[in-house]
Amino acid sequence: MEKIVVVGGGQAGLSLVAKLRSSGYQDEITMVCEEPELPYQRPPLSKKYLTGELEKDRLYLRPKSFYAENNIDLMLGCRCEEIDPYTSKIKVNGKKVSYNHLVLTTGSHPVKLPPNLGGDLGGLYYIRDLADITSLKPEIVVGRNALVVGGGFIGLETASALISKGLHVTIVEAADRIMQRVVGPETSSYFRNLHRSNGARLLEGVGLKRLIGNRRVSKALLSNDDELDVDIVIVGIGVRPADALAKNAGLDVANGIRVNQKGQTSQPNIWASGDCTSFPWGDSYIRLESVQNAIDQSETVAANIMGADENYEFVPWFWTDQYDTKLQISGLGAGYTNIITRAGIKENSVSYWYMRGDDLIAVDAINDPRSYMVGKRLLEQGIGVEPETLANPQADLKSLLRQ
Ligand code: ADP
Repeated sequence: MEKIVVVGGGQAGLSLVAKLRSSGYQDEITMVCEEPELPYQRPPLSKKYLTGELEKDRLYLRPKSFYAENNIDLMLGCRCEEIDPYTSKIKVNGKKVSYNHLVLTTGSHPVKLPPNLGGDLGGLYYIRDLADITSLKPEIVVGRNALVVGGGFIGLETASALISKGLHVTIVEAADRIMQRVVGPETSSYFRNLHRSNGARLLEGVGLKRLIGNRRVSKALLSNDDELDVDIVIVGIGVRPADALAKNAGLDVANGIRVNQKGQTSQPNIWASGDCTSFPWGDSYIRLESVQNAIDQSETVAANIMGADENYEFVPWFWTDQYDTKLQISGLGAGYTNIITRAGIKENSVSYWYMRGDDLIAVDAINDPRSYMVGKRLLEQGIGVEPETLANPQADLKSLLRQ
């Protein structure tokens, strides 16, 4: 009997074991999960779960019965401390567990604010785990002052949730525009206006100098020398891949656990998928933080463990919900040379199309699911589109698709 051990119980880990069982894998599966919770979805943590619109039970990716019914040995609240690739064993809570295949789906950790900037004060929160939200929720009280540090998806989604609960919110983004890691200036502008029109105070090109307080934060000093009274601080300044286990085991690691197109690490019977991996993309390596990547890469790994020899090939997609606005992104806009604006059907809908030379590489669709869907399919089919066609809202993009 073979045994597959999965370290990490997030979306990637769950997708992997679910795919193994649905594809007929019959041998042993063990999942080692550091958190005490059944595997759950993270995206709602900064959205509807934070505002209380979504119940905790709805977060779980599968009910408890799924694991027993599928003969998955789920080790909750257990931390893998070490991997020994030479004996094919891991150490969990001091005990050795052996594997034939090991899959690392360890995800990522939020970047922490260092203690010299006030990172160890009370009243400061990260948005990553269910436990973070459990401790933050009682702090969400009408009329309080919240500072959000970082204008990425996490910071902005949280700002929108806090505004909807009646807090006064200031957002500081150190870079010259919000969401600059993922989107172009047009999309940043749209969301800048959205936040301001909903009452957030949004400062770009302004970082946090330091938090001040006696055990608990009470003031924030900003890089523009403003001093703010604050009751709570949300830190959303990005994440780092959880690759320490892999690194300590001597696997190749560079901005995440290096895997090949099959999802295999530098050790043939150790695989990895999701946020923690750095994988081939064109002629370089990238790392993605997305549900799509967690699911698709895990499914490729599951198939390959069962002998399929598949490459992980896909068009990435992402989304964010802020206030009543949905942004859906397909493709990766990095390296674009031109952005084309296409007006949407509704007043508040628009899409931005990223070209590199003559090639379409990504689309940001705002309140415009049709443009998102057609954009995604154009990208998947590798179809070229003239800029004039994209810019003309009357032009039917769907007719360009192969059926
Ligand atoms: P996430 O998707 O987790 O929100 P991102 O990396 O996309 O992460 O966004 C984090 C944002 O935080 C970036 O836009 C970055 O410029 C910003 N940031 C990082 N450090 C600071 C800081 N000290 N003050 C304000 N903003 C910061």
